[in-house]
Parts: sequence; C-alpha cells; structure tokens
Amino acid sequence: MRFVIKADNERTPRLASDETYRALLTIIQTVNKNLITDAIYREGYDTPDGKRSRVEDQLAISYKNKCAYCERLCKADIEHYRPKKGVAEDKDHEGYYWLCYEWTNLIPSCITCNREGAKHNQFPILGVRVNAPTMLPDGNLDVTQCRANNAPLLNEIPFLLHPEVDRPEDYFDFKIDPRGEGIRILGNDVNGRGNQTIQICLLNRKEIKLDRVERVIDDFKVAIQSLFIQLESGALSEDQLVEKTIHHLQLLKEYSLSEDKTHTYLRKYIVRSSANFEKIVLPFLDMKVRKIILEAFKSIEPL
Ligand SMILES: [Zn+2]
Repeated sequence: MRFVIKADNERTPRLASDETYRALLTIIQTVNKNLITDAIYREGYDTPDGKRSRVEDQLAISYKNKCAYCERLCKADIEHYRPKKGVAEDKDHEGYYWLCYEWTNLIPSCITCNREGAKHNQFPILGVRVNAPTMLPDGNLDVTQCRANNAPLLNEIPFLLHPEVDRPEDYFDFKIDPRGEGIRILGNDVNGRGNQTIQICLLNRKEIKLDRVERVIDDFKVAIQSLFIQLESGALSEDQLVEKTIHHLQLLKEYSLSEDKTHTYLRKYIVRSSANFEKIVLPFLDMKVRKIILEAFKSIEPL
C-alpha cells in the first residue's frame, strides 16, 4: 500500500451530477439498497474496443494502474472501501449505503484482495461505528461528513487502512519470509491496524511475497552478480566495481520515486536506511559480496 492523493475535482461527471445526488437522496430516504446502481458508480461508456468505466479509468490514473492494497499492476475493480450493503462484523448494520457514490469511498482493488474470504464486506473498527448518514435540517445530506478523512467516519478508526488517509510508513515494516517465500509485510503500530489490514486483504499470500522479490530485488541482484563476475575475470577493477555498484544503488532510489512501478512502498522502505537495505536486500545476494555492497550503500546514505 502506498499513500495516494486523489483530488476531489477528479470525480467523474456523472458521480458529481445533481441527478446522482437526487438518486442518492432517494436511497437514503428509503434505505433501499437495491436502488444502488453500478451504472452510476462505474459510469460505463462505449468505445470501439468495448465498454469501459470512467470511474475505473480515473482510479487507474490516481493509483497508477495498481491495486490500492497489494500494489500489483492489475485491471482493478471498483471497490467500496466501506461496504455499501452490509458489514461482516455487524449483522445489524445496513452497510454504508449512503457512501455508494462517495468519491473517497471508491478505490481500485484487484479481484484477489477484494474477493470473499479476503476484504469483501469486512470492515472492523476500533472506534465508534457510524450507522447512518448525517442529514442537514433542510433534508439535504451533509456531504462533508461522507468523506473518509473527516469526522465522524475518521472516528471509526477502521482497522483497514485507507490509502488516501493513512500513511503506510506509520504502520508497516518488511522482513524476509522465514520459509524462503520472498518478502513479508508486517504491521508495527500499537493498535494493530497494520496487521489487521494485512490479514483482511491477505497481503502475505505467496504470490505477492514472491512478486515483491521478483519486481523489486531481482534486477538489482542480477546486475550485482554480473559485476562480480566481471571483477573475477579481470574485466573490472575494484574501483570500477564500486562505481558501478553505486550506479545500481542510485537506480534503486530512482525506482522508489517512480510511483508507477509496483510495490512503491517497499521500494521506499528499502532505500530509507542501511538497516532496511541490509535486512531486505542483502540476504538475496551472494554471501561474499554483501560486505562491499553494504559499504557502498553506506557511503552514499541517505540515498
Ligand atoms: Zn490487490
């Protein structure tokens, strides 16, 4: 998960329309969740290549074509962060039906993170559950109180972190998987929100742990191996090896700033300190090259 800024003025035309607001008021007045229509929150349109969704398209731009939770590149579905029709942890809750067309409640998720058994309708909280929308005296909806980063929704303190509200660096660490299955993400906050987010979206499923290594570490590893082969064959001097190593370390930093790559938060984590670099990257390198690589990292720290 990486922090995402999704501006209010990027809301798609139909979501922002008066017509949609009127349809929403009817849903609120009747609490009839059958009136919630994906024609509005998807906002489909025809293209020569078939049907597309304006909301999906816009979310793909904000989230760089990545799943909001696992940060893999994917064709993401529109996911209601707060479930619109029911809450798994509270059978009496009607669901957050009044947020069905709310921009801050729509985020892109891959099928696996959002399927039944993963996120789906789960929405456990630490704070006070909001059961109904806040209405103004004139019968209109208080739309400011529908935003994920405002009270009263913020006071629910959801266990599931919101990529547009919560900063991943406050909640997550990484470590090498002890069974040799790549890199694990782990929570580190006292309230356990990081760990709960991992459990809810199954962020340590095997394919993601391995994908983190394949996408983030493998190119660097191959480049370093190649340098040492050249050193051993006499094609490179030690000074040249250090110089080229530093170039590849700089590339790691560059990639961490390129938010359209997968696993941005892991990339940032790795280059943040030599301790993180040592813990996450070095174990994938040959034992005999680790010391010189770590020294090169420290020589240019902070990256
Ligand atoms: Zn995902």
